[in-house]
Amino acid sequence: MENPQGDTLNDRVSTAEIKFQTTHKPGVTDLRPLAEQDTEVDYVPWKNDQKIISKSLSAEFLKSPSLIRKQLCVKSLRKEISQEVGLPNDRWLVGGSLGSRNALLVFRSSALANSSETSVHLKPGHKMHITYRCVQAETKLLAKLLECHGITEAASNSNDFNLLWTGAHPKPGVLRSLAPHQRVNHFPRSYELTRKDRLYKNIERMQHAKGYKHFDFIPQTFLMPSEYKELCSSHHRIKGPWIIKPAASSRGRGIYIVETPTQVPLEEPVVVAKYISRPLLIKGHKCDLRLYVAVTSFDPLLIYIYEEGMVRFATVKYDTTHKQLWNPCMHLCNYSINKYHSDYVKSDDPSVENVGHKWTLSALLRHLKSQGKDTASLMSQVEDLVIKAILSSGNSIVTACKMFVPNAANCFELYGFDILIDENLKPWLLEVNLSPSLGCDSPLDVRLKSAMLSDLLTLVGIPAVDPILRPTTSPTNSNKSLKMKLSNCRRVHSADGLSNTLPKKNSNSRQSVNLSTASLTNEELKMLKNVKAQFERRGGFVRIFPAVDSWTKYSQYLEPVTGIPISGSNSSVPFSMMSQHNNNQILYMHLFPDVPMTPPILRDSKHYSRNSLDRKRDSSLDSVRKYESALSTPRQDRYERKLIQGHKSALGIMKKPVKETHSMDLKRQVSDLMKNGKRMSQVEARKTFSQYLCCVLKRISSNPNQEGHIEIVLKFLQKASSYLKSPFNVKIPSHKLSEKDRAAIVAKQLNDFLYLYNRETEMYAELDRPSQIPRDLFSDFLEHARECDLEEVLMLQNVQTVPNASVTNNTNSTTGGGAPVSNIQGLLLRCLPNLTGSSVCCRATDKKSVKVTPLS
Ligand code: ADP
Repeated sequence: MENPQGDTLNDRVSTAEIKFQTTHKPGVTDLRPLAEQDTEVDYVPWKNDQKIISKSLSAEFLKSPSLIRKQLCVKSLRKEISQEVGLPNDRWLVGGSLGSRNALLVFRSSALANSSETSVHLKPGHKMHITYRCVQAETKLLAKLLECHGITEAASNSNDFNLLWTGAHPKPGVLRSLAPHQRVNHFPRSYELTRKDRLYKNIERMQHAKGYKHFDFIPQTFLMPSEYKELCSSHHRIKGPWIIKPAASSRGRGIYIVETPTQVPLEEPVVVAKYISRPLLIKGHKCDLRLYVAVTSFDPLLIYIYEEGMVRFATVKYDTTHKQLWNPCMHLCNYSINKYHSDYVKSDDPSVENVGHKWTLSALLRHLKSQGKDTASLMSQVEDLVIKAILSSGNSIVTACKMFVPNAANCFELYGFDILIDENLKPWLLEVNLSPSLGCDSPLDVRLKSAMLSDLLTLVGIPAVDPILRPTTSPTNSNKSLKMKLSNCRRVHSADGLSNTLPKKNSNSRQSVNLSTASLTNEELKMLKNVKAQFERRGGFVRIFPAVDSWTKYSQYLEPVTGIPISGSNSSVPFSMMSQHNNNQILYMHLFPDVPMTPPILRDSKHYSRNSLDRKRDSSLDSVRKYESALSTPRQDRYERKLIQGHKSALGIMKKPVKETHSMDLKRQVSDLMKNGKRMSQVEARKTFSQYLCCVLKRISSNPNQEGHIEIVLKFLQKASSYLKSPFNVKIPSHKLSEKDRAAIVAKQLNDFLYLYNRETEMYAELDRPSQIPRDLFSDFLEHARECDLEEVLMLQNVQTVPNASVTNNTNSTTGGGAPVSNIQGLLLRCLPNLTGSSVCCRATDKKSVKVTPLS
């Protein structure tokens, strides 16, 4: 077969053979693989990317009608591409050279330091046109990191991305259409772990199924209002205090502590948990841990903990007498709460890990070790808690993956585990966060999170696949997922197949392992290879499951036949969806061939006497211990090592200092328009007001003693809360508290109010009337406005809305200086612009009764 240039097609053909079909769109050459070829060839050209196709194949060759169902060599195509674009530095690839279908991108936090244009252009991410999409997520750090690796943002409606990073669960339709090279940062139904109510219910089920003592790491929790009676009877036995949290909230929003169930609200869906009242104290302060846990697969289960985590301290020293039960800066460790306390210390040095109110995990462990504490035992309990929490919710997630996720490597998850250590050094699981904050408020944040995020992306493995080499998405994929379901059904009904793939017997020697490797199916071999390769890419992640002791400790929580996590209830994976592969068991046998396995079937068998069971378990544990001590760096030691990587300077994503003349000029333009009768739209007025409140928030938290401001803000909150659509309960801090503590409590409430207010502003956006101020001018104004500019513009808006209102209080704001304004009372209490969404609402204060709770 000849192309117009005379070279035979067979010159380009070697091992792999692919059949192509023509496109349905005229003028576009679609070189999709037939569905059957999926397992043979992972990546084949299909897209008409003019730049690359014309470079790697001649135009004539592409146009040739004889292309239909011709044999081609993918390897030679890849070679051509790699020659054409130039081989990149190996530092940025792993698993193969550019153009190879196994090549994965390597991410390094050091790229943040030297992201000059030229070096980006040399990186495979840029050369291979790798793209990402971000949806509803705080991604400044991620975006910067990807950009430094030459990865660009895909259009917001494009499905042609390599990485999708979302703040919420992706819809089933999005998951179903994923191609093998695409990655998404959530598993379906991860909420089984990350909603406080679901997490507790899943663990409680395991307590009932497997015994409380194996799952005693979570504080007893009740869902209100349905379990109020149970709460009361528990209170009767164990007494309070109780901590009340909204069921699906984060960052300490809406959390408070009460002594008795009578103080628990029954009209809202909240969770009420036993308050761990004797926490570990460091220099008198309560702290908790934020650990980053990556799961790259649920079947087989692959769990990693990042070796470095964050320790967050409460600003106010802990009072064990509970006289000040409600001081959030004493009892809650969230940064988002404590940062408003004027005593909060932020370290400016990224290399110092134990200064201020944020430490690294390793710094805490070294500190505890220096006091003679058993940190290895602590971290081993932490690992146990993480694994058991994930196992508790695993069944449901595996089921969802089988239904919605077409390719094994599509999904991964970074969970934020919040853990409290008590005075006996026992770790307690507080909650699991779906999208742990990647915000960088301090140099230490930048360092830790940049290192962790780079390692996460390398671990997950983003294929370096160019558009020309990308496989098709739907409909081939939907065929594939249908095929996947059908084959699952077929397999289950084939008893022969089932017995063939289960490991035959315990393997104690290398030889027997080699034999069983030979008996593995291609799919199983591929899984084994991928898991081993992923382990090699783990960077700072510590694989905790499977680990050498996993089978002994956790096989009892896996279904004996399928190996997936047990559900702890009757509703488990439907039989028709069960896989015949016990992936966890196969994996364990081949990763740890020298460690004997106690078959779970035997262990659960009633015919097994307790003695023989115990003997077996003991011998198994002995081997595990021997194996572990033979390892040069025991696993737990890794958590104590100092963090060596991570970007050490600011990201350059901080806000640039505002030029005063520029902001004055913008303010003048806006106010001139307003003086001539123009008005901000409702959304603009709300945004301006929100930004003004942020300035007030900063001011009262940095200077709590500023005369009367705390009281004014409190009054404002009481008044304003009645205009919010969501319930907002204002708490009056006790006058027994210090001024600083009162200010921090008020600031936290103002912050909570702002969150709800901004959320409601988003809802107004659709209904908003057209603005009378040019859009660009307004956004420029907001970006550069100082507190006094915001205040002046808000006053003008107010005057126009309420003709009798005046701007007489507005003395300082017109000076143009950046000095603190004295107008807070006037603005906050007399004009709450557009708070109700209709007009200025300062006249409507008594419309609803305001809920105010005095605090002890
Ligand atoms: P959020 O998702 O809003 O951050 P958390 O459950 O993580 O909610 O709790 C916030 C803070 O409250 C934690 O940092 C911790 O200090 C404290 N806390 C939460 N639950 C308990 C508890 N059961 N006992 C003691 N302190 C708790």
